[in-house]
Amino acid sequence: MQEPVIGIDLGTTNSVVATVEDGRPRLIPSRSGGRLTPSVVGLTRAGDRLVGQPAQALGEEHPDAVVWATKRFLGRRYTPELVQQAKAVVPYPLVAGPTGDVRVKLSGRVLPATQVSAFILGELRLDAQAHFGRDVRKCVITVPANFDDNQRQATREAAAIAGLEVVRLVNEPTAAALAYGLSRGFEGSALVFDLGGGTFDVSILDVKAGVFEVKATGGDHALGGEDFDQRIVQWLLAQVEDPFQEAVSKDAQSLRRLKVAAEAAKRELTESEEALISVSGLGDHTAGVKRFTEINTALTRSFFETLSEPLSRRCLDVCKSVMAEARMDPRSVDVVLLVGGMTRVPLVRRLVADFFGRAPSTDVHPDEAVALGAAVQADELVRQAGQALLLDVASQSLGVGVMGGRVKRLIPKNTGVPVVARDIFFPGTSGQSEARIPVYQGESEFQDENHKLGEVVLKNLHVANRGETPLEVVFELSGEGILAVKATDLTSGNMELVRLEARAGLPQGEAEKLGQEQSNYAQAQGVVDARKAEETFRKLLERGEKLARLLQQSARENPSPEAESAVGTVQQLLVGGKDALAAGDAAQCALIARQLTKLLSGRAEPRG
Ligand code: AMP
Repeated sequence: MQEPVIGIDLGTTNSVVATVEDGRPRLIPSRSGGRLTPSVVGLTRAGDRLVGQPAQALGEEHPDAVVWATKRFLGRRYTPELVQQAKAVVPYPLVAGPTGDVRVKLSGRVLPATQVSAFILGELRLDAQAHFGRDVRKCVITVPANFDDNQRQATREAAAIAGLEVVRLVNEPTAAALAYGLSRGFEGSALVFDLGGGTFDVSILDVKAGVFEVKATGGDHALGGEDFDQRIVQWLLAQVEDPFQEAVSKDAQSLRRLKVAAEAAKRELTESEEALISVSGLGDHTAGVKRFTEINTALTRSFFETLSEPLSRRCLDVCKSVMAEARMDPRSVDVVLLVGGMTRVPLVRRLVADFFGRAPSTDVHPDEAVALGAAVQADELVRQAGQALLLDVASQSLGVGVMGGRVKRLIPKNTGVPVVARDIFFPGTSGQSEARIPVYQGESEFQDENHKLGEVVLKNLHVANRGETPLEVVFELSGEGILAVKATDLTSGNMELVRLEARAGLPQGEAEKLGQEQSNYAQAQGVVDARKAEETFRKLLERGEKLARLLQQSARENPSPEAESAVGTVQQLLVGGKDALAAGDAAQCALIARQLTKLLSGRAEPRG
């Protein structure tokens, strides 16, 4: 059996893992049976880690024991601006790491954002291992199209800690297009409208002969489902009776209750025209004498749409600017693909249909599309079919800092990747024996307004007069947007030490230590999972026996070649299952378990 390669959507709100089975991409359920794993990580008082649903449950009781949406901080540098932005979206504190990387505080402990991502990836890996009954080491992970080099490197670092080798990083909109089957025969422009829980991204792709080019991207990273929930929360707050209103608006537990009710109402309004909302226990939970009130009200879909109006406008503003950047008329877009749970909302679908003048494609679950596409890409890479080439573009311009605080651009935004660009520079001062070449990402011609990616340090320069030591700088941007910078002293031919110093990665040694901890954890979990899987498989075989007896009986009553073959198929699986169990072949047990589960749930005909 070929080594499985999985596709992972490491999302801000939810993460998903998928694989291609029988030629079709499918989600791998979590070990607790869920489709999506909330990107929430918790630490119990005892220091045990929780990921996903259990972490969410822990957060209900102990909000300071969990963190979520940490993808916002992955691969970012700790700066006062970032801390300010974070305050608006998450309640947990950020802490600076030794290399300027961002760390989060939970349960009194500090974890690097990279480690939080590694916990989530590690959990998805365990889910995949339980699904396949064998070790899983290789994966494709999706990243937002506008992730910069540091963010991409941090994603890889998180994967490495989780014991995963990233075969390829794929842009999220490209993955969505793959899930919608655009690598098979489609030619034209595809607009990916991705509205998730906390972020909004719009990308326009040009697809030609199985090659995907990201033409333009845009987004609003402080806009998502949470904001729609907040509009409902504000409306509910206004309905709380007067003497309680102030206390409720300051009470964390009451606000959480309102938020949960608001999100449930929002989901209900996707299906119905009206949602009834009842919330009790509203008041000051910290007061000595507790007095509570409640609200019982109804929200119609049309009023929800009125409440959401400012948010809809922001969505459209982003669409307009992406269209302008791509120099396209919205009506010339060939297909519109929806991604993110929020695109199930009828208002959002209508907005998109009106703006682009066409109904969006809805045949893939919007919250699964990215992971399914990652699985398609993983499968392609394994089979090396070479169909989906995945050509992307540089999401931001890249250049070198020069005199006068300016930036000399080497790779302009939207250049197709992979690409190599080179230029010649001269050290600023005479007699310099070391040159520091700062590398910037961004659209401004001024260094201050760009993001400094790092610095290349070229030592042992040929000492000469100013202007006489030409240095060649080569930028090599890979197909997945990772930048390698090479600097050469052309006079001496020295291709000196090249180092990106500003990368806010984990300090040396820490990543290995965290990787070791993760590996110990995964090993212990793997033993527990294997025991559970064996138990579940035994029960499944018992149910299979019952099915076999029923099929035998019906074959006796109504003999036919089909009935005979159905009995044969089940019996063959049962014999194979027992043999695999006796031989301790976990992968074979897992395979037979999937086939038997399909038969027992009626998703497959037993006549094989
Ligand atoms: P994602 O980040 O793609 O998982 O999207 C999560 C967001 O989608 C959350 O704000 C959810 O409340 C929202 N969402 C998911 N399903 C639905 C639904 N059926 N109707 C309305 N909103 C939904």
